Amino acid sequence: MLTLKIAAARDGDVIIAGAGPAGAAAAAHLADAGFSVLLLDHQQFPRDKVCGDFVGPAALLELDNLGISGLPGYRQTNIIHEAALYLNGRHLITHTIPRVAGMPAHGRVIARKELDQWILERARAAGARVLENTRVQGFASDAGGVSVAVNGPAGPATLRAQALVGADGSSSVVARLLRGHTVPDRNRIIAMRAYMDGLPDTGNRCDLYFSDDTFPGYYWLFPTGPTSANVGIGMVRATLPRNEEHLRQLMLRLISSDPALRARLGDAQLRGPVTGWPLSTYDPALPCVGERVLLTGDAAGLINPLNGEGIQYAMLSGRWAAETLLAARARNDWSHASLLPYAQRVERELRFDMALARLIVQLIRNRHLTPVWLDALRIIVARARSDPAYADVTGGVLAGLVPARRVMGADILRKTALQALLSLAGMGARHLLRGRAHCVRLGLQTGTAAAGVALSMAANPRAALDWGLGVAGSALELGGGVAGALLQPGAQATPPAPAALAYRSRSIM
Ligand SMILES: Cc1cc2nc3c(=O)[nH]c(=O)nc-3n(C[C@H](O)[C@H](O)[C@H](O)COP(=O)(O)OP(=O)(O)OC[C@H]3O[C@@H](n4cnc5c(N)ncnc54)[C@H](O)[C@@H]3O)c2cc1C
Repeated sequence: MLTLKIAAARDGDVIIAGAGPAGAAAAAHLADAGFSVLLLDHQQFPRDKVCGDFVGPAALLELDNLGISGLPGYRQTNIIHEAALYLNGRHLITHTIPRVAGMPAHGRVIARKELDQWILERARAAGARVLENTRVQGFASDAGGVSVAVNGPAGPATLRAQALVGADGSSSVVARLLRGHTVPDRNRIIAMRAYMDGLPDTGNRCDLYFSDDTFPGYYWLFPTGPTSANVGIGMVRATLPRNEEHLRQLMLRLISSDPALRARLGDAQLRGPVTGWPLSTYDPALPCVGERVLLTGDAAGLINPLNGEGIQYAMLSGRWAAETLLAARARNDWSHASLLPYAQRVERELRFDMALARLIVQLIRNRHLTPVWLDALRIIVARARSDPAYADVTGGVLAGLVPARRVMGADILRKTALQALLSLAGMGARHLLRGRAHCVRLGLQTGTAAAGVALSMAANPRAALDWGLGVAGSALELGGGVAGALLQPGAQATPPAPAALAYRSRSIM
């Protein structure tokens, strides 16, 4: 009797907070599997979302599995075949999107207003009920279900379901309530973007730009069409020392002064405002499941902080959440323990990548060491220019296509170390050839620069300590991930080929 009474009082099997790629993909998969789904968003669709709009091959595969790649609008979107890197206005390398078996060898640039609408419509067509203009404000789980407090067009209400999926983005209410706090600054990236029209000829190439005075930020140009592009910049929030220039000013300055960006922009003009949005990065110490609750996409911090890519992780995690809920329904058990396989899956598939990216981000947020990190970038690029296999792996990792554990493979590490030695030897020889006086002067300059770094870090010991702890924590996390992977039964000493390691996509049906 009691069970029947509770079931009748339910508004759906699953409530999903947020109808971006994570929430709408989860809704589509769940509805396909016969779940009664309520998909809530506080905005009205079609809605814009601040983004670079680059949709990588893994995300394209997810879209394909949902049947979205067959839409006429989708087929008209701009295909990207290659990516180029620039440093201080000079071209470093251009490389084609690496080919990984089972995945498209290209990306696309798709305006989020369209992309998110297509996924939402796919969920609706599968049977999900979509409630727009409805903000999720809180939730509470109990033995019989989860109650979700919402504020919609009809005013405040409480909805009931068996489980709640938090897909409400990087400032997620569901994540904040589950974790008990907001995202700390060190896990935040801020990014801005604008659209520009009137470019000479955008081609099918995405550009990433680095420079001494913007590092650890980077900026991009992603062509949205033959003469238009999405141009933007992303920056770790807690740099040491803090970056005093406002990101918007910095972006406008780069648009008008960076030689490489200028060359591609020609006389292009801004269309609409320069708009920003925060991203939150993955922290394995924080839970992504609870009693009757799972976090997906940006709400779970599933962003690759190296390239800012999050659409593929949003769609993947939406599918993984749906698969876990399918198993939970079969057991009629929606407890934390029953949902834990989802968290384990996120860890298994992404933790290593996120840990490596996190360590790199922790390292580079110390701007005192920018010359060292940019030299490291030059070394990697120098090797990539002469070694296509190496370029496929390192470029694939940057594109979020090849799992990051591939760059920790012995072969890649050996090649990078060798290239570093060659570069150092070349540099040393060039200095030696310039005579003893030059070498003494160089030694003094290097010593002065090192002392300057030490002094400025000593001037802000708290920030320096925070940075050191952040690096140590990320290194331990990565080390733990490597050890865990090696200790797993059947772990391979030599990483398999990229194709076998690529995030495999499976429909839940
Ligand atoms: C400037 C910038 C550039 C980026 N560039 C790229 C890129 O080129 N490629 C890439 O792959 N990724 C990029 N990203 C990251 C990407 O935008 C996100 O990873 C992606 O949108 C995550 O999808 P999601 O569904 O998890 O969250 P979102 O897309 O943020 O969707 C969350 C949804 O939840 C809704 N919502 C929020 N709070 C509530 C609430 N309380 N109640 C109800 N609804 C709520 C929102 O209205 C929104 O519709 C970029 C991000 C930024 C900021």
